[in-house]
Amino acid sequence: MVEEMKGKIRVFCRIRPASRTESAQSETVVVEKVDEFSVKVETSRGDREFQFDRVFSSEASQTDLFLDMSRLIQSAIDGYNVCIFAYGQTGSGKTFTMVGDKDQKNPGIMPRTFNAIFDIITENRNKFEYRVSTYMLELYNDRLQDLLVTPTTAAGSSAAESQQFQAAAHRVEIKRNRKGVVFAQGAEKKDVSNARELYALFKQACANRHISATKMNVESSRSHLIVGITVESRNLTNGSVSSGKVSLVDLAGSERAAKTGAKDHQLKEANFINKSLSALGDVISALSAELPHVPYRNSKLTQVMRDSLGGNAKTLMIVNVSPSGCNLDETLTSLCYATRVKNITNIAQRNVESKEIAHLKEV
Ligand code: ADP
Ligand code: MG
Repeated sequence: MVEEMKGKIRVFCRIRPASRTESAQSETVVVEKVDEFSVKVETSRGDREFQFDRVFSSEASQTDLFLDMSRLIQSAIDGYNVCIFAYGQTGSGKTFTMVGDKDQKNPGIMPRTFNAIFDIITENRNKFEYRVSTYMLELYNDRLQDLLVTPTTAAGSSAAESQQFQAAAHRVEIKRNRKGVVFAQGAEKKDVSNARELYALFKQACANRHISATKMNVESSRSHLIVGITVESRNLTNGSVSSGKVSLVDLAGSERAAKTGAKDHQLKEANFINKSLSALGDVISALSAELPHVPYRNSKLTQVMRDSLGGNAKTLMIVNVSPSGCNLDETLTSLCYATRVKNITNIAQRNVESKEIAHLKEV
């Protein structure tokens, strides 16, 4: 079904299980899966039902979720741009869904994608020649940080100076090539030859994310994590070349964080997050209304995700929600946001070149 999603943004909804604290406090469960495609929310003004392309209950495993995704990975290898992103308030299960739990007993979409890519490659080794490369970025406030570059402290300079120097030396900018494929100019792009290498880079990236997060005294939930994996393949029989990309995004928490008592830097953070997520919403509604102008430029997030939303892309959004009554408002906000996303139509196209054109370009 996902494979057939050509030209569409698909939306899955996943309800996380009640946490131990929520169960201990006998927090009421107000979100319920009705059937494969519907979710019901109990509000003080009656029940509300939302429809999505798939609904996963709190019992659904990581494997269940990924089953619906492996065809999408095949598409990226066939030359499509594919984007999978998780949306929801902090604590709703975005990181669990995208990355997995801490000890990786239940790996999420990212590590599973790494394996799936190389499984497909291995299967087709005698028909295609592949080149896989990756970049990993964090978007915190309006700054893109390259997670494949480990920050080092230069001798004789303060940590702050050195960080500034680092930031300047590894300034990452978003550019587009002539085919409209977004690339992160200035970001370290590393070639990888197997899933293990890719996972090792990812671990390094997560560690770097942690470093920058603790330095600025923020949790990872205040920044967006973007992992891009490009797969170039050359057909050994006819020489045609195709290039696809998988973008995996763990968005910052969508909750209105500017609650009473928020300090200056927290307010600044909240503003950047709200700005980027609402820019994402604006891009999405412009696309669904088929407006001639799509405001991609309004935030770095939408610039980075440009080739994954609209145009040449297959996009899957997973909206994560908490089951608890205490999160009701945020849950409704997330489900409404996700409903808006559902109406987009894209025309997905393969990025493929004939042998002749590929050769000419090389010349
Ligand atoms: P977010 O990234 O949206 O802030 P997390 O992914 O960190 O949220 O989830 C919050 C907590 O709930 C974590 O301890 C996580 O392990 C747990 N959790 C989330 N979703 C699930 C799930 N489907 N099954 C089991 N535990 C989950
Ligand atoms: Mg998280």
